[in-house]
Amino acid sequence: MGGGRVVGEPPRPLVSELERTRDSAPVPAAWDYAPAPEARDLVDLREQYGLFVGGEWLEPTEAYTTIDPSSEEPLAEIGQASREEVGRAVGAAREAFDNGWSDISPAERAKYLFRIARILQERSREFAVLESLNGGKPIRESRDVDLPLSAAHFFYYAGWADKLEYAFPNRTPRPIGVAGQIVPWNFPLLMLSWKIAPALAAGNTVVLKPAETTPLSALLFADVLRQAELPPGVVNIVTGDGRTGAALVEHPDVDKIAFTGSTEVGKSIQRQLAGTDKHLTLELGGKAANVIFDDAALDQAVEGIVNGIYFNQGHVCCAGSRLLVQESIYEPLIGKLKRRLATLRVGDPLDKNTDVGAINSKQQLDKIKELVAAGEEEGAEIYQPPCRLPEKGYWFAPTVFTNVAQSYRIAQEEIFGPVLSVLTFRTPDEAVEKANNTPYGLSAGVWTEKGSRILAMAQKLRAGVIWANTYNRFDPASPFGGYKESGFGREGGRHGLEPYLEFD
Ligand code: NDP
Repeated sequence: MGGGRVVGEPPRPLVSELERTRDSAPVPAAWDYAPAPEARDLVDLREQYGLFVGGEWLEPTEAYTTIDPSSEEPLAEIGQASREEVGRAVGAAREAFDNGWSDISPAERAKYLFRIARILQERSREFAVLESLNGGKPIRESRDVDLPLSAAHFFYYAGWADKLEYAFPNRTPRPIGVAGQIVPWNFPLLMLSWKIAPALAAGNTVVLKPAETTPLSALLFADVLRQAELPPGVVNIVTGDGRTGAALVEHPDVDKIAFTGSTEVGKSIQRQLAGTDKHLTLELGGKAANVIFDDAALDQAVEGIVNGIYFNQGHVCCAGSRLLVQESIYEPLIGKLKRRLATLRVGDPLDKNTDVGAINSKQQLDKIKELVAAGEEEGAEIYQPPCRLPEKGYWFAPTVFTNVAQSYRIAQEEIFGPVLSVLTFRTPDEAVEKANNTPYGLSAGVWTEKGSRILAMAQKLRAGVIWANTYNRFDPASPFGGYKESGFGREGGRHGLEPYLEFD
């Protein structure tokens, strides 16, 4: 077919003609991207949502409005579940546990999980749009990361449901009972999947509380459960703010709490549950070091650094927010990084060309601004590429801080935004010491050509997940979780089943 002229199209000028009639070469002045918006009408929003309890929609006594953080436009009215309503959800979960779900044959349980996984795949475009709309994350990420990984988690744990006795040889596993699960706003559907899939595979029933700012994908997930014909009460979804979460933690008939969120709330939950017989897993904050040695492939490392901190606007507990660069490559690496930053496209989360979307909430934006101001005050040097931020909504430009001392707040505290702090080191030992100089211990990255150095660093870094020559790679078969103030317990892999089981 080739590049021939379409009939009816005006004849194209020859290059020689263009050169003759213009002063400069015939190249457009700016190579602007055309907008490439994903269709918002793939999502059919209701005006009001109830609480999903015992397979039915329960009308809540109180409600609040959830918004699109990129425009501040109201999206829907969401239930604020009271203590009494949380109690009804726990009651429904207990009834479903006692009346069949825990005794159902494991192979039957697996079928439900497989069904949920398939439906998530089938409806992935709709879910991706909803996730970007309610959370502000770029559609490219919800489409290519959140949704495929969410479905993969259900597929993975469906495979374990009838193999529990092989997963834990010489031990007889049994489900714990009712699991109360509290998830944050950075990966609403993915965190839901990390929690619900292993809980059901192990034979438990669930009451899940999504984050206040991002309830919509969990509420659409209730429709997936209906489609999959999951028995009523096996999964219940109660929306609301921290008070709803607290009511779930305190409820005497909940057997296990799985929490992902801030270290502060995690600590208070741990204090609250001390002395009770409730099981607990906590996945909390992080301040990961991404360590670049002088023999690393610099261009690949720059991609890894960008992915490490600007993925999901830096709203990632394992984000590579502290960059440790070996001194001898500091100048070329920072030069490359700044040039790469200038190519990041910040804007409409539903545009397929967007790299960095909106900040999830005003509260989070204020926190980022406060820490960035502290960084400037303490003496760090700030760099932000020129970029025009939309006037409405919550936005923050990708930011790099150089000249950072270890004691600065931006090197110690979790910013949870698109802000990178750069430090340097001379020797591997110094890199380890600086990397471990944090109350957290969730993740780390190492970039070097030497396999032996990767293994040596992995032995010494106090982090639950260590990536080598890559960053932010996830797989349902791989356990994820932290040390120190990043929490305890693992999600993913065979390890992720254990917190949902008791053993005879
Ligand atoms: P929270 O820890 O408050 O939120 C996490 C989840 O816990 C949400 O569903 C929240 O509900 C719920 N929750 C809040 N208070 C309680 C409580 N007392 N008992 C039970 N559940 C509760 O985090 P924030 O949203 O306030 O974020 C603050 C900071 O935490 C961020 O800036 C970031 O640094 C860190 N963070 C870390 C995450 C991680 O993955 N490690 C995830 C999210 C935040 P609600 O949304 O209604 O408040």
